[in-house]
Amino acid sequence: FAPWEDPGQTPLIRIENVTKRFGDFTAIDDVSIDIYTREFFALLGPSGCGKTTLMRMLAGFETPSEGRITIDGKDMAGVPPNKRAVNMMFQSYALFPHLTVWDNIAFGLRRDRMDKDRVAARVEEMLKLTQLQKFAKRKPHQISGGQRQRVALARSLAKAPKLLLLDEPLGALDKKLREETQFELMEIQEKTGTTFVIVTHDQEEAMTVASRVAVMNHGKLVQVDTPERIYEAPKSVYVADFIGDVNLIEGLVASVGELAELTWAEGKAPLIGQSGASLKAGDEAVFAIRPEKIAISREEPEARNRVRGKIVDIGYLGNLSVYHVQLPDGSYMKCEVGNRSRVSRRDYTWEDEVWLSWTDTAGLVLPS
Ligand code: ATP
Repeated sequence: FAPWEDPGQTPLIRIENVTKRFGDFTAIDDVSIDIYTREFFALLGPSGCGKTTLMRMLAGFETPSEGRITIDGKDMAGVPPNKRAVNMMFQSYALFPHLTVWDNIAFGLRRDRMDKDRVAARVEEMLKLTQLQKFAKRKPHQISGGQRQRVALARSLAKAPKLLLLDEPLGALDKKLREETQFELMEIQEKTGTTFVIVTHDQEEAMTVASRVAVMNHGKLVQVDTPERIYEAPKSVYVADFIGDVNLIEGLVASVGELAELTWAEGKAPLIGQSGASLKAGDEAVFAIRPEKIAISREEPEARNRVRGKIVDIGYLGNLSVYHVQLPDGSYMKCEVGNRSRVSRRDYTWEDEVWLSWTDTAGLVLPS
């Protein structure tokens, strides 16, 4: 049982029907989410969707206009940030430039008047956890960006919060370092057992690190699910399109059942896919199919889902090639082929007439 599927589990955080208004602008619109102990939870959405506002309400820097936030069974209404079992790590890291790495990590513990020996023990433990022992005596300007990020993390975890909020924690790092650091973050989260809630606009990052992802749009919660389900079973065109690449074909629902059929072009066989939501015959709908689930061939395939077209563009990405195929009606589809067992880069080329096909369960029929 994952904690969110176990009815016996009490969530660490309950966000219940929370709305946040700034004047007459609604930044968060009736959002409810349960987050469980030890989860690595991601709030994901485009700029301005309200994810930072939601996080700031968890931290206590903003108050909900409506609804309720409970942390560890306690209603947070009126509880100031420093009285919550929550710590927040800011994108800027906010390290003290004149203090050493050691003193930066010790800062909060000393302020709480923890005794000297315990402070030392805790700081050493945090240095070890974040592999910063060698840098303890340096100042922030004497270490790299990735190391500064780890100091900020060590400092945020020193007081053993139940919940750590991370606002775009890897935003300042370059792509390669970001990817490495994602795995370090996951390892540290697992070792400490702290619940992490991360805010990010980076789909890949959310999908890599999180146990569950909440996708937001215009202040609304669109879907909360595991990364696999967000990718494989998006409930809306918005989610399908926001995460990963997808081909979208508009049409009308012809029939629904275990599989749904979508009529999309005159004289063409309907497209068949899994039915993503409560649709009925005659509804306008969208067929969604991921490029890597499409096979390309010269011979007419047996699959019921098949379309013919012409290659108009090829993107070679090393590990895979992306073919842009123009269909007779002028629309385009994208198909990705892995290059692992490829014999030659010239398997298919521009202007080739090809078939694209996919299995009945590879695509989704979604409400438009
Ligand atoms: P980004 O990734 O760009 O930080 P976000 O999803 O985190 O975006 P928020 O910072 O939560 O978005 O902001 C959501 C909306 O609320 C934005 O339109 C923003 O302008 C507005 N907003 C946030 N704080 C305030 C405030 N104090 N007063 C008025 N409007 C605000």
